[in-house]
Amino acid sequence: MSDKFPDLIDPVLFAERRSAVSGELKIATLERLSDSVIDHDGSVNVRIEFGKEGKRIVVAGHIEGVVEVQCQSCLQALTWPLDIDFKLAVVASLQEEKQLNDCEPLLLDGDTLSLNALVEDEILLALPDYPRHEHNCLAHNHSEDADYSATDSQTKANNPFSVLAKLKKTGD
Ligand SMILES: [Zn+2]
Repeated sequence: MSDKFPDLIDPVLFAERRSAVSGELKIATLERLSDSVIDHDGSVNVRIEFGKEGKRIVVAGHIEGVVEVQCQSCLQALTWPLDIDFKLAVVASLQEEKQLNDCEPLLLDGDTLSLNALVEDEILLALPDYPRHEHNCLAHNHSEDADYSATDSQTKANNPFSVLAKLKKTGD
């Protein structure tokens, strides 16, 4: 396993050799992704396998990691886990694209394939357009007063059933 993740590769050669590459890819090296995330210090773990299905070159892989995006409600950081499986088939034309069943089309620009761009595209596809915290983060920020927890413990103490439960236990 190589530590340095290669960028530009020859997909035909890699497919014929059934090569696999894996390693860490720094978010800072992915320019377009850097625009979409807040934290640029992190990295993602990537594994990509090359093979052939008939004459077709197939590129399948997995991307794992965590990025920080900006919540569109409260504008605070929002941790977004990445767990992406992808399977792409190299196509030369739009017509070929229609014949694909379980693969997404991958159009090559020349003879080389940029793995960085491929990984970046997959991550950008997986990120939401308008990321938001799952909880109502705006409401949460405004209702953080002490009264809330005080009433909560009071109702617990005044609950007659909790007293009954205690009596029952000691009575046995
Ligand atoms: Zn939020």
